[in-house]
Amino acid sequence: MRFETMALHNGNEIDPHTGAASIPIYQASTFHQFSVDQPGVFDYARSGNPTRQALENAIAKLEGGCRGYAFASGMAAISTVFLLFSRGDHLIVSQDVYGGTYRFLTQVLSRMGIKTTFVDTSNLQAIEAAISPQTKAIYVETPSNPLLKVSDLRRIVKIAKNYNLLTIVDNTFLTPYFQQPLSLGVDIVVHSATKFISGHSDVVAGLVVVKDLDLAEQIRFLQNSFGAILGVQDSWLTLRGLKTLSARLETSTKNAEILACWLEQHPMIKKVYYTGLPTHPGHQVQTEQASGHGAVLSFDVGSGAIARQILSKVQLPIVAVSLGAVESILSYPAKMSHAAMPPEVRLQHGITDGLLRLSVGLENVEDIIQDLAQAIETKVSIMISRK
Ligand SMILES: *Cc1c(COP(=O)(O)O)cnc(C)c1O
Repeated sequence: MRFETMALHNGNEIDPHTGAASIPIYQASTFHQFSVDQPGVFDYARSGNPTRQALENAIAKLEGGCRGYAFASGMAAISTVFLLFSRGDHLIVSQDVYGGTYRFLTQVLSRMGIKTTFVDTSNLQAIEAAISPQTKAIYVETPSNPLLKVSDLRRIVKIAKNYNLLTIVDNTFLTPYFQQPLSLGVDIVVHSATKFISGHSDVVAGLVVVKDLDLAEQIRFLQNSFGAILGVQDSWLTLRGLKTLSARLETSTKNAEILACWLEQHPMIKKVYYTGLPTHPGHQVQTEQASGHGAVLSFDVGSGAIARQILSKVQLPIVAVSLGAVESILSYPAKMSHAAMPPEVRLQHGITDGLLRLSVGLENVEDIIQDLAQAIETKVSIMISRK
């Protein structure tokens, strides 16, 4: 079965007991044991619940893994995976990793004696140079946020195998619809399912998928031990989101491609970051390892004043953190996702005061263009009138 079919026909489409056309929400924390000597599949809902398991099975299939695990948030999923490591271990992590991941590594894991080196993982030499005898894993986010830097997953896996390191990929931006890291040799995929997978800005959830049974057993053990599981209502909502993932991503990616081209030729826009543009430095690698470019793009309007003008004038996108929803979401990295970064470090990384990130939704793209045009050009007229 192909992706679109699998997202709908994954064994959960009919409730075997009633024929209901969706998996019931099993709102139960514990399960009667019909025989104490032969316990059932489920005993206590932290360890397993049928609704959560339906989601876990679905994401495992879609990512091409053997097991999936659902968590209370993307950060719960990511943090639980990091519990695989112990005092003295060293990790190599993408420099422009998600802010929450950076915080967990630098302010929590560091206290437990787990060290991290942040490197530009689009630069393979930099990865290799950072490897030490204590290194246990390479953690990559590709494309990265907000500049959509692309890391070459096949080559990173090759390096990791040479040094016997685990590879972990945050696949939030592309989802398995466009990118399946496990098929490229990666060991663990993590997701903020809050974003494209749920897709409607109404759930916070995280997912982990692995393709090796030993590793699956370790993650299952950690999920049950740490206990940051996804509740049943949110598991059900996330499963519903998965059903329309391909249709949503097709439309929003098409919109993003049109918008990227429109922005690139707009005289007020200094630079557009979108892997679908042939001018993007990661375009080639992205085309080789993913089947699409996704619905997130960033653009630089040249100054903080113009960025603020646009943020205050847009009518359609909500102005917010987060991404991957049916509605367009416009973010201001300098004041939102990267506010905690010292300005000089932020600028060094290319995250300027004029940088905006747009997660393109399902609105009619002509309406988004018209709205952005009025927001951008309002500033032009203000500047002209001031002259
Ligand atoms: C949002 C996000 C996370 C964190 O997920 P939460 O669900 O907010 O905990 C991790 N990685 C990426 C790339 C994200 O965008």
